Amino acid sequence: MTMVEVRNLSKTYEGKVAYQALSNINLGIEQGEFVGIMGPSGSGKTTLMNMIATIDAPSSGQVLIHGNNPFQLSMEKLALFRRRELGFVFQSFNLLNTLTVKENIVLPLTLDGVEVEKLHRKANALAERLGITALLNKRIYEISGGQAQRAAIARAIIHQPKLLLADEPTGNLDSKSSRAVMDTMYQLNKEEGTTMLLVTHDAMAASYCDRVVFIKDGQLHHEIIRRGSQTMFMRSIMDVLSVMGGNPNDVLTTSYS
Ligand code: ADP
Ligand code: MG
Repeated sequence: MTMVEVRNLSKTYEGKVAYQALSNINLGIEQGEFVGIMGPSGSGKTTLMNMIATIDAPSSGQVLIHGNNPFQLSMEKLALFRRRELGFVFQSFNLLNTLTVKENIVLPLTLDGVEVEKLHRKANALAERLGITALLNKRIYEISGGQAQRAAIARAIIHQPKLLLADEPTGNLDSKSSRAVMDTMYQLNKEEGTTMLLVTHDAMAASYCDRVVFIKDGQLHHEIIRRGSQTMFMRSIMDVLSVMGGNPNDVLTTSYS
């Protein structure tokens, strides 16, 4: 079943000088799939993510989620749809620094008026799964970046979203923490079947995906599907990145050593 269907999607940012960030993108994401989006800085990855996340509207074309066009919903229903069906993870964690890990994780459910007992049960179960139980009562400023990102993932999935969208979740992390975060995402995808979309610069992170699509200058450039081992897939990803060219500094890779 197709979870997300992007049809002839284009986005032009209006301004003093209009800028076409995406041209005619077509992309399908199956339910349960883990898809990576790569491409040089400024190629339109975040723009595409924001359209799929229903945060920003396309200039033309469509985004269908389970066959429905979320942009046809009223503002109120769209907000509810986003809160109930989607989960977000960002490079900058977006956690509340002075709250504890547990308080951060349950925040989205607090907004929905879920009873306290249930909040605790869910947070504990999730922390167990993500290996952050020992951190639950620590405040965000007391934990590492990798731990904070795993807390952010817990918060992003506590309402069991159908689609998890992560924009450069390992962008601020060292290679060891990046791997811990990617292991967590991989496990969620495989065990819970959560459909996931990952924007990343990092070939190591992308190698956890089932499929990676490459964007260049706002257009789909290439797509590769994982067939062999993760290491082989990472090599294929790096090959495509090197063929695509661009600024080599845009292509940060984490070595496996
Ligand atoms: P990426 O995530 O691949 O680095 P973005 O999607 O953020 O790229 O940006 C794609 C292009 O669109 C860039 O040239 C960027 O400067 C431009 N852009 C992004 N957001 C806006 C905006 N709100 N207004 C105008 N231009 C934008
Ligand atoms: Mg971006």
